[in-house]
Amino acid sequence: MKSEIKEKIEFLRAELHRHNHNYYVLSTSVISDYEYDMLLKELAELETKYPEFDAPDSPTKRVGSDINKEFSQVRHKYPMLSLGNTYNIGELRDFDGRIRRFLGENADYQYVCELKYDGTAISLNYKNGKLAQAVTRGDGEQGDNVTDNARTIRTIPQDISAFSKDFPAEFEIRGEVLMPRKVFDNLNIERTEAGESPMANPRNAASGALKLQNSAQTAKRKLDAFLYFMMSENLPTNSHYDNLQRAKSWGFKTPDHTRRVNTIDEVFEFINYWDTARKDLEYDIDGIVIKVDDLTLQERLGATGKSPRWAISYKFKAEEACTKLLSVDFQVGRTGAITPVANLEPVQLAGTVVKRASLHNADVMRALDVRIGDSVYVEKGGEIIPKITRIEPSLRTAESVEFQYATHCPECGTELVRSDEEANHYCPNPNCPPQIKGKIEHFVGRKAMDINMGEATVKALFDAGYVKTIADLYDLSREQILKLDGFKEKSAQNLLESLGESKLVPFERVLFGIGIRFVGATVAKNLAKAFKTIDNLANADLETLTHIDEIGERIAQSVIDFFKNEENRIIINRLKSAGLQFEIVETESASDKLKGASIVLSGTFAKHSRDELKAIIERNGGKNVSSVSKSTDYFLAGDKVGPSKFAKVNEFGIKIISEDDLLEMVK
Ligand SMILES: [Zn+2]
Repeated sequence: MKSEIKEKIEFLRAELHRHNHNYYVLSTSVISDYEYDMLLKELAELETKYPEFDAPDSPTKRVGSDINKEFSQVRHKYPMLSLGNTYNIGELRDFDGRIRRFLGENADYQYVCELKYDGTAISLNYKNGKLAQAVTRGDGEQGDNVTDNARTIRTIPQDISAFSKDFPAEFEIRGEVLMPRKVFDNLNIERTEAGESPMANPRNAASGALKLQNSAQTAKRKLDAFLYFMMSENLPTNSHYDNLQRAKSWGFKTPDHTRRVNTIDEVFEFINYWDTARKDLEYDIDGIVIKVDDLTLQERLGATGKSPRWAISYKFKAEEACTKLLSVDFQVGRTGAITPVANLEPVQLAGTVVKRASLHNADVMRALDVRIGDSVYVEKGGEIIPKITRIEPSLRTAESVEFQYATHCPECGTELVRSDEEANHYCPNPNCPPQIKGKIEHFVGRKAMDINMGEATVKALFDAGYVKTIADLYDLSREQILKLDGFKEKSAQNLLESLGESKLVPFERVLFGIGIRFVGATVAKNLAKAFKTIDNLANADLETLTHIDEIGERIAQSVIDFFKNEENRIIINRLKSAGLQFEIVETESASDKLKGASIVLSGTFAKHSRDELKAIIERNGGKNVSSVSKSTDYFLAGDKVGPSKFAKVNEFGIKIISEDDLLEMVK
């Protein structure tokens, strides 16, 4: 019996260590937070019941370390404890009961309810009103010194003495660094375009950005911070809530929607409200934090090892649905990366019908032990495509067999390869049809050459044998195009004209279009700006490349490899002969008609793409801003702008202009 318990404890520890590693080091997770917490809870209960099996390195003893050896380590003055979790209203009643028993039946106390932002924790130290140090949670005892990076976050004040004078000479304020959902979505679109795998969730993206080695890059990630707890020997009041109000008056961004309540039933009301209302927030929240307000009572309640007794977090369960896995497709991307995608029996989830879900890669599939015919749970997180979080073992049939991952490319039959550092398998055949078609589709795409050609035309040109590389596009003849299904004189003429116009597309977009791995639109822009011509870029060495904004070693190496390849050099030379732009054309700022104006753009537009409009604004001295605030000058409204946006615009009294108005203004 005892040996069985020991075995169980060891099994749970191994599982949790493995999931920790997946989560913190690999930035992927194969189980949901809920399941992780259930495993941790099971282990904690066993350890309490059987203290003889306690171990100092048990996963229950640490809050998960995110220490990066590149940063210096700082010991926290006050340890950064992590909160106990529950998914269960009944356990919140127990929490309340424990506090009442501890403080006595007649104790008078209030709770503060806060939204639990899904970001990464930070502790800020202020001396004489100036930000002195910013440290991550780390292992709770010590964390990474990320002061330089934190300084790039605009909502973290550098100096509060301009706002007020009544703050303590030294204090710490803690909170959460997070990435707005919209910034996260854009980041993932950019990564996908550059042939990289998308980030798993905004939390990983925020913590990754906070730990970039170059703080200029951190700044570009548009992080935000909410601060929610103050510590000092000289706090202004004895109430956590009131202290936060003070912090707010000193210029700190404290969370909106924080509420002080008198009873646990009011806490439940708060939870019920936010369980639905959270969908309208600009940030992801994953639960509610409940704290005892009175600091003296907090101190009396104290902590149990790693968590305080005076606070708890209630986590929302992610919406999930159970359905049947019908089959798995292996998709081949333009870089040759293989992505397994699950075909599901259609099921309703969060208001939409889900038929497909991502399975990421072979490791994830193995960890899930997912098999054809299994009943699987799908969950919708920050991602566009839902993911499978676990299977339902009780519904597995006796005939089910272990899933065999593809060994050969489903499109060309070449044996797949996988390097040690990569999570995905690759098809190494440069002549693999979906890779070629993918490269051409990328090249003609709107953000690259913007050639008037859809997926079907690319396929037809490829199947007919006319276009095998992007350079072949410029050798197309009218006769060839007319031989394709559905093309007539007029449409053939249009296509040829569009190809002709693409020769005026600026260098940075050509550079993006040629599809160097890891070179997305932003990186291409930076490279074009730095090197001016493709020849300079082709001759650059690793050191020169890595000195450019946002270019790390991995991108630099990819650029070098690209130009080392003989076939690529031939393609570039042919494109040069065709007359494409391989040099930056310095354009003076067209005008300063929009000088200093900050403009928010929203919706879809008839005459120009959003990117083109942004370029027009920049060329005329204006500034593109991503969200509406008091200091916004113009709101450039296209079609399909939501009513809530307009409400905000009107609230701030911002002038609304149309696309035509803008074009008139810069004329
Ligand atoms: Zn292939």
